[in-house]
Amino acid sequence: MNKKELEIIKKKALEEHIPIIMDDTLETIEKYLKEEKVKRILEIGTAVGYSAICFTKFLEKNGIIDTIERDTERIKQAKQNIIKAEVDDKVNIYEGDAVEILPTLNQKYDIVFIDAAKGKYPFFLKEALRMINKNGIIFADNILYKGYVMSDYNKHKQRTAVRNLREYIKEVSENPNLETEILEVGDGLAISKIR
Ligand code: SAH
Ligand code: MG
Repeated sequence: MNKKELEIIKKKALEEHIPIIMDDTLETIEKYLKEEKVKRILEIGTAVGYSAICFTKFLEKNGIIDTIERDTERIKQAKQNIIKAEVDDKVNIYEGDAVEILPTLNQKYDIVFIDAAKGKYPFFLKEALRMINKNGIIFADNILYKGYVMSDYNKHKQRTAVRNLREYIKEVSENPNLETEILEVGDGLAISKIR
């Protein structure tokens, strides 16, 4: 697909207030993907397929992205977009709630990108750790959630999300098998390398 078509998908998503990956977050992840041999990616939170389409560039031959989305309207758009982008042989959409779908998966992944319900991040991490390859990387977007996570402000209506994002950071930081950095790009990005 050419860059212009990808820009059209991005523009439409932004107009419809679909929370696609921010440019600096994408650039950061791409730097890592360039250096890895990526055969299989798991994405939690497809939205309209924008990030998945971007990641396909970094797949090895016959590489696959499995991506999970529960919103039927977004799934419809994602399917159209991956066809337009001519990557429908590389992107496999699982339709439904990731909380139900993840436990049914038994693949190994080189990369996991967590980008869905913030209140479920600790659960997504547990499932990611079960399926990630040695030397793989787990990325978690929106980890600083508009700054709420690092502030002491906890009366916000999003406090369940904030509590679970903090729990995620604590778990990846304390896990001796992970080497984690938290970057202030976009809405915050956690990068955990499996040792
Ligand atoms: N990764 C996309 C953006 C994802 S936005 C991109 O950068 O282009 C987050 C998406 O996760 C939303 O579309 C939302 O419907 C979906 N989502 C949130 N919680 C989910 C869950 N528990 N299971 C499946 N999808 C979920
Ligand atoms: Mg996000």
